[in-house]
Amino acid sequence: MRVDNFINGKFIPGSSGNTEKVISPVDGKLIAAYTTSRKEDLEAIITTATEAQKQWQNITLKERVQVFYRYKAILEKNINFLSDIIVQENGKIFSEAKAEIEKDIELCEFACALPQFAHGETEEVSVGVQCTSERYPIGVVASIVPFNFPSMVPHWTIMNAIALGNAFILKPSEKVPVSSQYIAKYLQEAGLPDGIFSIINGGSDIVEMICDHPKIKAVTFVGSTKIAALVYKRCTSNLKQVLALGGAKNHIILSPDAHQEMAATNIVASMSGCAGQRCMAAATLLAVGDCDHIIEKIVNESKKIQCGNNLGSVISKEAKERIENYITEAERQGAKILSDGRNTTVVGKEQGFYVGPTIIDHATPEMAVATEEIFGPVLTIIRCKTIDEALAIENNNPYGNACSIFTQSGSIASYVSKRASAGM
Ligand code: NAD
Repeated sequence: MRVDNFINGKFIPGSSGNTEKVISPVDGKLIAAYTTSRKEDLEAIITTATEAQKQWQNITLKERVQVFYRYKAILEKNINFLSDIIVQENGKIFSEAKAEIEKDIELCEFACALPQFAHGETEEVSVGVQCTSERYPIGVVASIVPFNFPSMVPHWTIMNAIALGNAFILKPSEKVPVSSQYIAKYLQEAGLPDGIFSIINGGSDIVEMICDHPKIKAVTFVGSTKIAALVYKRCTSNLKQVLALGGAKNHIILSPDAHQEMAATNIVASMSGCAGQRCMAAATLLAVGDCDHIIEKIVNESKKIQCGNNLGSVISKEAKERIENYITEAERQGAKILSDGRNTTVVGKEQGFYVGPTIIDHATPEMAVATEEIFGPVLTIIRCKTIDEALAIENNNPYGNACSIFTQSGSIASYVSKRASAGM
């Protein structure tokens, strides 16, 4: 399949002349190719987007969201087809891919409800003095997205931004650019005017141009922390609005009183779902006191998972190698590998990139497996004597997404939720 930019309602190849291949991580086969873009391609998008936005902002919000009622029906009709594309380009299993489209539909419903609550306010600030706030579109906005949710992460912003009267430019991940072709096709089918939604394919050079272009008024970024920081700095230095979401290293605190089966099932589902390539995945287990009876169940639960069946692939050969190197290095440093997903292959898909569920025990808080985002189906266990020791490790980690506590004690749960520093 050929993947193109989407400019003024038309699919047009990037003009650089450099072709990039899209390899399916499921079986290592070539599934698509695209030509990368140049500054001229971005300029063409911005010119048409700027013109189209001037008309779009004059339509009422109620009228604008009608597009998304129709778009939702198209997503529902094509849910299996779209899920198959995600499986092919990202490698996750079908049910996980389908859950992505279901989330898109939910996000669509949210955007359709915007007329009910995205309104201004009037406040009486003093006797006889009223302040009124009104909502205005920003103009042309852009989103730069990662590989791990080829459809859901773009939909976090597309519909809200467009419903609120902006023109939107999507820069898909170069690893998974196929799903966004169908976002463009279906938005057009739903009646979105040309120029309001555009796609630009490419890598870091295009991202830098987006951050620097004075006519792109706001940028959202989702991806690794290093690049989130670059995008944030570059956009703010250009006095641009920016929302940049980075990587994660989520901690689970396990108390010995936790419900054994429930803890084991949920912890394994969290570390292995989407092959651990989720910013909400469980990464580090802080086992407090004697948790051997639950850890044994976690290991047994992980052994029920089969690559290619209920566990998808990781995104690339490089990702597989990176993840396996983390495991090997932890082993070299003295950690114990209770469940080993290295050197995993799937019959009939020998060229695919698979890592089986891996559980590393007796890691120390300083090891790379405990401090860095591995982004694979790997759970690192650190043994702790007390809840406070576990909380100190959680609070010291530089990431901020999520922390969970498994316990049957309400007071322990409340103690942890008040003291854990993660945002969720
Ligand atoms: P990534 O940072 O490598 O890529 C994200 C985007 O940035 C892509 O579109 C890519 O083309 C672009 N990019 C890559 N290198 C660049 C550079 N040097 N300069 C400018 N742009 C560059 O991330 P990824 O590997 O695609 O995605 C995985 C990461 O995303 C993980 O760290 C994960 O935790 C994170 N993530 C976070 C959330 C969240 O909500 N916080 C959600 C999903 C994923």
